Amino acid sequence: MIQDIDRIREDFPILSRQLYGRPLVYLDNTATSETPREVVEAVVNGYTRTKANVHRGVHTLSQEATELQEAARRKVAEFVNASSHEEIIFTRGTTEALNLVASSFGGMVLGEGDELILTVMEHHANIVPWQLLQSRIGFKLRVVPMLPDGSLDLEAYRSMFNTRTRLVSCCHASNVLGTVNPVKEMIAFAHTKGVPVVIDGAQAVPHIKVDVRDLDADFYAFSAHKMYGPTGVGVLYGKRSWLEKMPPYQGGGEMIESVSFEKTTFAELPFKFEAGTPDFIGISALSKGIEFMERIGIDNIAAHEHELLEYTTGRLLAEVPGIRIFGQAPGKCAIISFLVGHEHHYDMGMLLDKLGIAVRTGHHCAQPLMQALGVEGVVRASFAVYNTREEADLFIAALKRVAAMLS
Ligand code: PMP
Repeated sequence: MIQDIDRIREDFPILSRQLYGRPLVYLDNTATSETPREVVEAVVNGYTRTKANVHRGVHTLSQEATELQEAARRKVAEFVNASSHEEIIFTRGTTEALNLVASSFGGMVLGEGDELILTVMEHHANIVPWQLLQSRIGFKLRVVPMLPDGSLDLEAYRSMFNTRTRLVSCCHASNVLGTVNPVKEMIAFAHTKGVPVVIDGAQAVPHIKVDVRDLDADFYAFSAHKMYGPTGVGVLYGKRSWLEKMPPYQGGGEMIESVSFEKTTFAELPFKFEAGTPDFIGISALSKGIEFMERIGIDNIAAHEHELLEYTTGRLLAEVPGIRIFGQAPGKCAIISFLVGHEHHYDMGMLLDKLGIAVRTGHHCAQPLMQALGVEGVVRASFAVYNTREEADLFIAALKRVAAMLS
C-alpha cells in the first residue's frame, strides 16, 4: 500500500492550487493525469540543455537527444514487456496509434465483405478510424454488447466469429464504466480462429500491470499524458511480425532508407512508422513518468485507487438519493460514472467545479455507449495515485450539496 501520500502529492505542484477559495480536488484523471515534478523537469532540461533534432546530427547535442529518446523507447518496451524496443512506435497519443493500426494494418487485412469486431464500450478513437477505413473498403462492423453490470457479453463475442472475421479491436478498460475487459481470454479465443487483436490500453496502462507478451496482444496502444507523463506522446506496441509486413502510415523524413523520384525504400523498425520530427523531448520525459509509477509500484497504485473506489462508491450509494452508477463490473478500475435523479450532468459538473471539484461531464467520447445506457451524458469522477480519502469526502459532501440545490 501507499505509505506517504503527502510526499507523493508534494511532487505535483498543481494539486496545491485553490479554486474559488477551496482546495482543488482533481477527479478528472481518466481524461488526463496530473504531472509530477520530475517529468516537468525532464521537459525543462530537454529544452534548456539537450535540444537538437534526433537521428540527424553527428554533434553532441543531437546524439544526447537521440540517446534520451531511445532510452525512453527501451524503458517503455521493458515496462510493457515487449520482446524488443523495435516493437515500440512513438505517436502523438492513443488516437494516432489507433489511426496508424486501422489505416496500415486494417487496410492490409480487411477486404470488402470482411468483418471487424468492436465493442459497445469503445472510445471514439477506436471507432472512427475504422469507419474511415470502412468507407474506403466496405467491410462490416460487428459490435459486442454488454451485460447490465457493464461487463462485456463474452458469449455474444464468441458467437460473432465467422469465416469473414479478420480483426478484433477492443479497449482493455472502459473510460466510462471502468470495466476491465478479459482481454487475455478474448485474444486467446480470437487467435484460435486466426484473428489478430488490437487493444486500446489508454485506460489500463496507468492503473494495472500490462504485459503485452502475456496478453499476446497483436497491437496495444496507450497515451503518456494519462500515466503521469507529458502531453503529445503516445505509444503503439506491435508484434514485429506484423509491423514488418505493414505499409508505412505517413511518409516523410526519418522513415526512409533511400528516396528517389523513381523509387523510395523504407527504414527499419521502428522508424518506418515515425515520419518527421517526433516530440523527442516529451518522449524522453515519458521515461520519468514510468519511473514515477515504478517507484510507487503499479500494484500499490491499483490497490490505493481500488480502496478509494470502494469507499466512494459505498458512500455515494448509501448517502445520495436517486444516484445511478453506470458500470459495476467486478474488478473495475477507479472510475465512477453517475447521474442523480433527473439532474443534468452538465449542471452538476458546473456546480461541483464551483466547490473546487474537477469532474468530467458529457458523453466522454463514447456516444454509442451512451445510447446503449439510454442517457445523453454522465458525470464522471476518476481517481489517481495522489487522490486521498479526504478528497473523496470533499467530493461526496459537495455532490450532496449540489444534488440538494438542484432538486
Ligand atoms: N481510448 C480511451 C479508452 C480513452 O480513454 C482515450 C482518452 N480519453 C483515448 C482512447 C484517446 O486518447 P488520446 O486522446 O490520448 O489520444
